[in-house]
Amino acid sequence: MAEKRYLFTPGPTPVPPQVLAAMAEPVVHHRSPDFRPVYERCLTRLREVCRTQSDVLLFTASGTGAFESAVVNLVTPGDPHLVVSAGSFGERWAAMTSLYGADVDHLRYAWGEKPDADDVRSRLAAREAKAVWIVHSETSTGVVADIQAIAAVAKEAGALVVVDAVSSLGAVPCEMDAWGLDVVVSGSQKALMTPPGLGLAAVSDAAFARRGSLPRFYFDWERTRDAQRKLDAPFTPAVSLVAGLDVALGLLLAEGLEQAFERHVRLGRAARAGAKAMGLDLFSPDEDSSAVVTAIHAPEGIDAGDIISAVRKRFGMTLAGGQGDLKGKIFRIGHIGWFDVFDVTTALAAIELVLDELGAPVERGVAVTAALNAYEHTPVA
Ligand code: PLP
Repeated sequence: MAEKRYLFTPGPTPVPPQVLAAMAEPVVHHRSPDFRPVYERCLTRLREVCRTQSDVLLFTASGTGAFESAVVNLVTPGDPHLVVSAGSFGERWAAMTSLYGADVDHLRYAWGEKPDADDVRSRLAAREAKAVWIVHSETSTGVVADIQAIAAVAKEAGALVVVDAVSSLGAVPCEMDAWGLDVVVSGSQKALMTPPGLGLAAVSDAAFARRGSLPRFYFDWERTRDAQRKLDAPFTPAVSLVAGLDVALGLLLAEGLEQAFERHVRLGRAARAGAKAMGLDLFSPDEDSSAVVTAIHAPEGIDAGDIISAVRKRFGMTLAGGQGDLKGKIFRIGHIGWFDVFDVTTALAAIELVLDELGAPVERGVAVTAALNAYEHTPVA
């Protein structure tokens, strides 16, 4: 049989066939009537998904590029900023803001901890900050932060709030306007069900008004905002990806954001129930907020990398490993975007089989049964 591949990572994620089909259409010119309606609809849909009236600026870049746009537009060297980190991506933003000359107060948690609004309040009371930079879903650990509470604290202190929503947008609630978020950054390749290559930054008027003095060109917000408002992209956009993203956003909105959020809660429950039924310990919190990716400790004496490579070699399935110090210790099952419960049970069934081979026997089917029960029988509050 022809090889079948499965992608169970928290980005890139599987892409629905309708999206792939849209991307296979002939390439159109970005300043022609063939593209403008697609561009307009895609930008409108992005505002709906971010739940904002503000402009959502679309860049041909991965999520890190969109995040860098926030840094180069907001930082003036020497400005005080507060970066909150509890994993790989938060640390990336601390490094990036420092590199561009921000005077960074780094509220650094151990990987896997959940940032706390009271800690942010104390740090802001001790030292003012122009902006608080925070990761919503820390993909490296599976922890989803309460950015609503943290944004409220930042607002009290007069700071802007910049949110990395790369793996959360479209999977868990992220209410830009209602929660007072100033910048929401994301990428196409996660819950937005599109291949990698597009980054977005939704920018509030307050953030736009407080732009800093760093030089910038490609990522200059004003250049992209003014051009987008005329549906005339400043640079050649990845037209085929925009066509794909437009279809993917249409699918997400047709499902309904609330329904999508509920589905992700259930997928998280299913993955956790399956892992626990196999006797494995969870690394990500055992709670409904863990709806993006489930991080699981490898059993004592087994390297997580061996589980990942066995699943890959035997079944063509890609799981994610641990990053940094967690490499070899945890493995992660992504469940954002175009995922249903059978994706989760497929991943769990493969893990059951390879654990057995690696010397950690598991009764066959326990994980799958527990996952299906958790998905179906536990009502979402
Ligand atoms: N932030 C988070 C939370 C992520 O999960 C990722 C991607 O894995 C990034 C940032 C970086 O995005 P990209 O790889 O698209 O540059």
